[in-house]
Amino acid sequence: PDQSLSGRVAVVTGASSGIGEATAERLAAMGAHVAVLARRAERLDSLVERIGKKGGHAQAIAVDVTDAAAVQSAADRVADDFGDADLLVNNAGVMLPAPIEERATDQWQQQVDLNISGLLNVIGAFTPQLVKAAQERGVADLVNMSSIAAQNIFPNFAVYSGTKAFVTHLSRHLRVELGPKNVRVSALEPGIVGTELQDHVTDEGTLQWLADSKESGMAWLTPEDIADVVGYLAALPSRVNLQQVTIMPTAQP
Ligand code: NDP
Repeated sequence: PDQSLSGRVAVVTGASSGIGEATAERLAAMGAHVAVLARRAERLDSLVERIGKKGGHAQAIAVDVTDAAAVQSAADRVADDFGDADLLVNNAGVMLPAPIEERATDQWQQQVDLNISGLLNVIGAFTPQLVKAAQERGVADLVNMSSIAAQNIFPNFAVYSGTKAFVTHLSRHLRVELGPKNVRVSALEPGIVGTELQDHVTDEGTLQWLADSKESGMAWLTPEDIADVVGYLAALPSRVNLQQVTIMPTAQP
């Protein structure tokens, strides 16, 4: 097994499916201890079991990241059980596009609560550990999962894109704030990745767009493609910080 992240303590949110799950497996395969966070406990337990069978080390913490107090308890547990986290993959997110005139206020709120407030809860709870670990071990990583939606303009994606523009812009600010403390900050901006993200979409137009994209034969990215990038950036020499990485399916316009 690759030992390039041996001794690192990783935390991955949204690890019960898709990109987070693949990233947790990748980081564990590279030798990191990985705490996996999401709401669905059974999914996390089977992930931890799978990682363990391959000789890796992981710990499941069932938590809703929109609950700031619960996130703080999760952070305390990680520090107690594994030591301070030095690699945080802030990945939990939801995409619910809809025409603005439909006034889907529940879905607007859900996206803001998870993609913005949830992300901030996790940053708030774990940044002290990242800073401390970086001082002691020389480097730590804060990786925020943004999206190509932070840059590109799509009809009906205004609220989701707004949340992801927040993630990218926040990350650039945090990089200059935390970089001098040896904490690298990265925003990843993937194009379409085949995950459960699309299963939550209810908007007819978006569902049709996704179906058309599939029928066109365009190869979507896989969660493992994104996991590879996270593993790569975390294993770079401590002086190198990939600030922003856009990862597109080759054929996606
Ligand atoms: P998935 O739907 O497969 O994964 C989302 C994860 O977030 C799940 O593990 C889910 O677990 C978790 N989650 C949802 N709500 C909460 C909550 N309140 N508290 C804790 N965890 C929660 O989608 P992806 O893997 O695709 O998405 C991961 C990230 O990647 C998202 O931020 C998304 O915006 C981004 N992204 C995805 C792209 C794609 O095309 N798939 C493209 C660009 C960016 P549970 O339900 O168990 O809590």
